[in-house]
Amino acid sequence: MDDTVKIIETNLAEVRERIARSAEASGRTAGDVTLVAVCKYFGSDITTDVVEAGCREIGENRPQVLWSKASDLSTLDVRFHQIGHLQRNKVRRTITCIDLLHAGDSLRLINSVSAESVKQGIVTRLLIEVNVSGDENKHGFNPTELESVLEDIAVLPNINIQGMMAMAGLESDASNAQREFAQLRELRDRLFSVCPDNVSLKHLSMGMTRDYELAIREGATIVRIGTALFEGIPRV
Ligand SMILES: *Cc1c(COP(=O)(O)O)cnc(C)c1O
Repeated sequence: MDDTVKIIETNLAEVRERIARSAEASGRTAGDVTLVAVCKYFGSDITTDVVEAGCREIGENRPQVLWSKASDLSTLDVRFHQIGHLQRNKVRRTITCIDLLHAGDSLRLINSVSAESVKQGIVTRLLIEVNVSGDENKHGFNPTELESVLEDIAVLPNINIQGMMAMAGLESDASNAQREFAQLRELRDRLFSVCPDNVSLKHLSMGMTRDYELAIREGATIVRIGTALFEGIPRV
């Protein structure tokens, strides 16, 4: 077997072990948390190694890269996640490639995803991105506007809202990150009661290499992990 695959397998086992422990700490099991392997630091070759090492959920932040990997890996059993900001002129091609859009970060974008999905006769699953840290350079909705946003998007055809996504602030230390993750969970719990029937808020996509254990303890159902999976593999 390829050396790279072996290294990734080892890293993956370590990460899955930590996911399991954190899930148990929050009264859940490893099966309640989906690991999305963020492969944005590498090309299609190493992304293929990740799939071979046993991870079938692949996250990308640049749409053009996602398109080309989707084409390169088209014979493999793999699901792609668009985790980074998506411009509206890239919606058409992106929604044909993905299982889940994490970055539903504006009404204009979500409108466009809905309209393109109608044209293509598909249903696109997506998460609402929330700016919990208040960082000005972060995308996402303000927590205070979410209730009205839910009403606005509930009427849009051919989209399927699955929950929310957030990132801890760039400047946030562990206790700030934990507070931000808890804030997203509390927000979700509060919105349950006003949530339109056709909107599900079951998923919380939060946590990356530096803070995924915290995020899981605070209720993450999806973690997006890159760096930790590639330790020992040089970035070219
Ligand atoms: C890059 C990225 C990640 C993964 O970050 P790591 O620190 O490498 O684990 C997660 N989420 C988003 C939105 C990203 O852009």
